[in-house]
Amino acid sequence: MVLSAGKPRQQHDFVKLPKTDLHVHLEGTLEPEMLFRLAGRNHISLPWKNPEMLHEACKFRDLSGFLAIYYKGCEVLVTEQDFYDLTRAYLERAASDGVVHTEFFFNPQVFCGNKISLEGIMRGVFSAVHDMRERISCLYMGTVMRTRPVEEALRTLNELAPWYDRIAAFGMGGAENGNPPSRFKRYFEACRERGFRICVHAGEEGPAEYVREAVELGVDRIDHGNAAVHDPALMKILAEKQIPLTMCPISNLRLNLIRDLGEHPLKRMLSRGICVTINSDDPAYFLGYASDNWEAVQRALDLTPAEVLQLALNGVEACFLPEAEKIKLRNDVKTAFPGAPGMADPIVERTARKDQDGFSPLSEMD
Ligand SMILES: [Zn+2]
Repeated sequence: MVLSAGKPRQQHDFVKLPKTDLHVHLEGTLEPEMLFRLAGRNHISLPWKNPEMLHEACKFRDLSGFLAIYYKGCEVLVTEQDFYDLTRAYLERAASDGVVHTEFFFNPQVFCGNKISLEGIMRGVFSAVHDMRERISCLYMGTVMRTRPVEEALRTLNELAPWYDRIAAFGMGGAENGNPPSRFKRYFEACRERGFRICVHAGEEGPAEYVREAVELGVDRIDHGNAAVHDPALMKILAEKQIPLTMCPISNLRLNLIRDLGEHPLKRMLSRGICVTINSDDPAYFLGYASDNWEAVQRALDLTPAEVLQLALNGVEACFLPEAEKIKLRNDVKTAFPGAPGMADPIVERTARKDQDGFSPLSEMD
């Protein structure tokens, strides 16, 4: 077992850690090679001559610079088969990366106006999820762009009605500054009325105030949430309410939100009892899948074995699976840490107490 808590920290093999990826955009998993293949298949011309030039273009200055390339990449997704191939490729890669459960965002708003119908898109996505169900547990989350009017977000929510039984949550992303979560109150209320969990990107490039607004909207999860580290009172609220933060360290580094991973607030927030988790965001563009993020953070922040265990358990706490399935996942995580001395750690104890009746034999998820 590679993740024995008694071994030196650098020997961790994070591919083998059973983990979650709860903040990943399906469109952001489009690898340059597939992007070029689909462009060829659909006769679409690109501003880059080859995948290497695209790699070169992926040295982003900020979130807006990234989004410009990201939306350009989305243009190659045209047919049902394209959406199937994209979804399947991500799920295969995540499964090989040791992700046992993923919750991915996908924004159909980006593709409206294309020739393909919403039915075709969703059929492509859900067929791949179905075909991969033996290898990886997966939930789908709808999302909308905060740079577009709230009416458009409501329209997207309604257009997805035929698939409500297969949607776990709704979120919101896009260029953050000047687009506070409170502006979308009607959308989040409408999501709630329809029985969905809600999450929102906040405090990535935006201020702590946006994270506070997200809390006031009653969200189930905050995507990123980094800026809360500047507001001790807000950190206290996040810890008390146990509102999970789906943090994406390599994404933050690539978008120059931090200069060095050593500055990342994840460890400080973890020490305050906040339910922080590690995720990949847009792994194809940021050159880092789930285990790359775990490894980079462990190296930069010198996480203790107890902290690694807590982060893995936080991923289970934060996910939107039913409790019975969470019990199986928690068991998988704990099995990866035989005799972990960290189990006596007060942070770990808090989680361990909650599931003391729920222990079951190792699941079939490996
Ligand atoms: Zn994101």
